Amino acid sequence: MLPPNGLPREEILAAMQAARQRDVDWQHGKVFSLVFDAGDEVNALAKEAYTLFFSENGLNPTAFPSLRRFETEVVAMVGGLLGGQGQSAGNMTSGGTESILMAVLAAREWARAHRPQIRQPEMVLPRTAHPAFDKAAHYFGVKAVHTPVREDFRADPAAVRRAVTPNTVLIVGSAPSYPHGVVDPIADLAQIAQEREILCHVDACVGGMMLPFVRRLGYPVPPFDFSVPGVTSISVDLHKYGYAAKGASVILYRSKALRRHQLFATTEWPGGIYASPTMTGTRPGGAIAAAWAVLNFLGEAGYLRIADVVMRTTQQFRDAIHAVAGLKVLSNPEMSVMAIASDRDPIYEIGDELAARGWHLDRQQFPPSLHLTINYVHRDSAQRFFLDLAQSAQAVRRPGLGKAGSRLLPAAAAAVVKALPEGVASWLTGRAAALLKGGEGLPQRSAAMYGMMGTLPNRGDLRELVLDLLESFTDPQR
Ligand SMILES: *Cc1c(COP(=O)(O)O)cnc(C)c1O
Repeated sequence: MLPPNGLPREEILAAMQAARQRDVDWQHGKVFSLVFDAGDEVNALAKEAYTLFFSENGLNPTAFPSLRRFETEVVAMVGGLLGGQGQSAGNMTSGGTESILMAVLAAREWARAHRPQIRQPEMVLPRTAHPAFDKAAHYFGVKAVHTPVREDFRADPAAVRRAVTPNTVLIVGSAPSYPHGVVDPIADLAQIAQEREILCHVDACVGGMMLPFVRRLGYPVPPFDFSVPGVTSISVDLHKYGYAAKGASVILYRSKALRRHQLFATTEWPGGIYASPTMTGTRPGGAIAAAWAVLNFLGEAGYLRIADVVMRTTQQFRDAIHAVAGLKVLSNPEMSVMAIASDRDPIYEIGDELAARGWHLDRQQFPPSLHLTINYVHRDSAQRFFLDLAQSAQAVRRPGLGKAGSRLLPAAAAAVVKALPEGVASWLTGRAAALLKGGEGLPQRSAAMYGMMGTLPNRGDLRELVLDLLESFTDPQR
């Protein structure tokens, strides 16, 4: 309830500090997703820039030429990094999802203009493509056609070629994919798109601000950007390896003409002529300003230096993971995103053991694995993690752990909806168990829950459960 009278400032701030006590501890490098941290100096500048433009609104660039300039320069800087050669055009968005939504919308609108015979547009998505594409399919009525990936978890061009129909308007590749951190064979995918004279989007949300520097450091990185003929759009998040404030991503098109299909304008509103380049109306000036500030502060040399540290840290992680018997990194990721799996031990239980030691790693499926996004902050927590990883692997081999461990956890996560608040895991477990015929006892630890979710007879049931869970997030708290 809205308090009838306002509360004192101190009380409010104290309540907020108290509320964050149970949040994951990203400040000490204990989280491997969600937060990207390039250190105090960068954070301080981003905050100052954000605050400076706290009130400004990117909706109307004529009112704020400052924001217009920042956005234009950010888009040009990122285009320059990714082979845009002064020809690419784009916009800043609130994040990777919005950038991807815009790319799919633009592809649909491009097809309406250039392929008017297509009634039901389709896009081909390698199975590992980010769910934001499925969200776009859901929002915009574009049919998503999923293709299997190869054994190395990269998109399979042959499968993509087979999946293309006369209705296909867009082929998608990732550089790299989120689940396994591997770069799809973009040149092959883009070539298929070129042959069919359709569009090709590269999802470089996580890689766009990292791979160019990784390549310059001498690591092998296959071509993935506008230097590849046939690539027509690229999404790049600045709030990931760009180390900008949250709410900052870029959607780029090879040409202004392609970007035109993304834009919206109406001239009939009594409120005046209204035009907006992206999904959102009001756009927070702070996010645009902070991104501009951080890009200028770090420059090429700064990003190169940080990428160097991240890649060295990544190599340490790889070595430490392979040093634990049974554990392995899936495939051979080009940068600092990877999945850990095990040949012999239940990997979700290792995840539970790590969680009990304060580490936050997302669970993945098909096959079961734990996810790591290594960034600058992990250089300091790496050694501690390696010890805990070895201990965790050891712990799941102790007989009888299932019982002893059951009181340790349940604050873990669901494979599908990340980061569960305390108590929700057990709620979900209860619901899932109710759905299971035969009704075994309720598993307490998330590993058991994952195992069980994987065996649910009907994936549709699982989806309904997850929607229940989403609803519960905005239910009033006990
Ligand atoms: C993070 C990510 C996205 C989605 O970005 P959000 O900023 O979370 O909306 C899309 N694709 C890839 C590969 C990503 O890593």
